[in-house]
Amino acid sequence: MKGVADLFNSKLTITYIANSGVAVTGRKKQILVDGLHKSEAGFYFSTDPQTAEDIILSKEPYNLMDILLVTHDHSDHFNATYCVEALKKNKHLQLVGPQSVADKVKSCPEYDDELASQIKSIEASPVKPIVLSLKDIDIEIFCITHDGASADTTVNNAYLVRMDRHDMLFLGDAKADDAVFESAGVYGKKVEVLFVPFTFIGLSSGREIIKKIAPKKLVVVHLPDESKDANKLTEKTKIAHTKYFAEFPPTTMFDTIGQSFQI
Ligand SMILES: [Zn+2]
Repeated sequence: MKGVADLFNSKLTITYIANSGVAVTGRKKQILVDGLHKSEAGFYFSTDPQTAEDIILSKEPYNLMDILLVTHDHSDHFNATYCVEALKKNKHLQLVGPQSVADKVKSCPEYDDELASQIKSIEASPVKPIVLSLKDIDIEIFCITHDGASADTTVNNAYLVRMDRHDMLFLGDAKADDAVFESAGVYGKKVEVLFVPFTFIGLSSGREIIKKIAPKKLVVVHLPDESKDANKLTEKTKIAHTKYFAEFPPTTMFDTIGQSFQI
């Protein structure tokens, strides 16, 4: 009587932490993507301090955490002190991020060399992904240019995570640039859930990339806190989503801390 139990066991719960921060929880495994941060840009959500403490102290529902994935070294995605505390309290925990993230963790006053084996600094080439298997979770890492001013040379890792037979692609602060996605090797990969920054909804280039990746489900992250959103970016994103509704797969907007769904 394997089949039914297997189906039941393979469910994942995806929970919105803050900004682009997401926790993915399986029956025995858990990952956190961009989930420990204190944003210096006032209109994006930061990790609730109580949630950060619960993650660091491995309290339910964050008691299965295997890997912290960090897409890039910006304050609305990553806080080095939080990460050091989490690694210290949880010796089995691994952190994966670009070199700049690893460097910042290692330069924390709270850091000690015992943590070195828990930190993996990984950067893919712009023309070839890197495949990593860690704690029975398969991760493919793509180099995707960071959005914003051309002077922003921040290395941004996108992660395709395969966990309990589900494939989830996290883009970080990706620029909606088709050529970058093409050369990085993203197209053609099987993606069940695609997490995109909100900019992808309003931009035709973003919508084209979503179409090419063709996920079964879309999750919109990095939406500003509506109460501080003077430019009404969240509202504009929702209007654009309604306008181009037919182009999108079933979509969840992560705009309320703690909201979650299962796949
Ligand atoms: Zn960023």
